[in-house]
Amino acid sequence: MKPLEIRLTQLRTNIAKCAEKYHRNPDNISLLAVSKKHSVADIQTAIDSGQFDFGENYVQEAVEKIQALDGKNIVWHFIGPIQSNKTKLIAEHFSWVHSLDRFKIAERLNAYRPPALPPLNVCLQVNIDDEPQKAGVNVDKLNELVKQIESLKRLKLCGLMAIPKAKTSFQQQCESFARLHLAAKALHLSTLSMGMSGDYEAAIAEGATIIRVGTAIFGERD
Ligand SMILES: *Cc1c(COP(=O)(O)O)cnc(C)c1O
Repeated sequence: MKPLEIRLTQLRTNIAKCAEKYHRNPDNISLLAVSKKHSVADIQTAIDSGQFDFGENYVQEAVEKIQALDGKNIVWHFIGPIQSNKTKLIAEHFSWVHSLDRFKIAERLNAYRPPALPPLNVCLQVNIDDEPQKAGVNVDKLNELVKQIESLKRLKLCGLMAIPKAKTSFQQQCESFARLHLAAKALHLSTLSMGMSGDYEAAIAEGATIIRVGTAIFGERD
């Protein structure tokens, strides 16, 4: 087996163990492989071992990979910062967007979503630890944004996403994820996109339905 296949297999085993430990149904935890800065060849290796959901952060890089892997039944997720002038490409090439945090961007994605495609699945990115420099809507502004987005027929609002502050302890990681879970519950949203290579166990413990893992699958990025 290639190192990448070994890491992916180990990760799947760990996810299954976490599911059991925290009394989660493993079918409700999906693995999004974050392939930013990694090659088409590495993505192909992951596909060959049964991975079909991939996350990308940079539009240009992503569109090249999407075109190179055309026809492979991949579900592409956009998880990076969204610039207004990239909304058309995102709406045309992706099935999911996890990093939506402004109505203006939502309107553009809605307008550009091609009629032949199903509505674009979206998660709202929440600035769960109230960090001044960080992307994401504040928890107290979520209600308003949700109401606005509900009028956009070419978007399907699925859930919430967060990238918490880097935490040292498992307990601290859990606290941020638990707050995101509560916010989603209050809005009756079922998708919780949370947890990365360093904190997916805490995310699973607190109800993650999509974990976004890059380094633990593909290795370090340059
Ligand atoms: C890069 C990235 C990830 C994956 O991070 P790793 O630590 O490599 O697992 C997850 N989510 C987002 C939004 C990212 O930008």
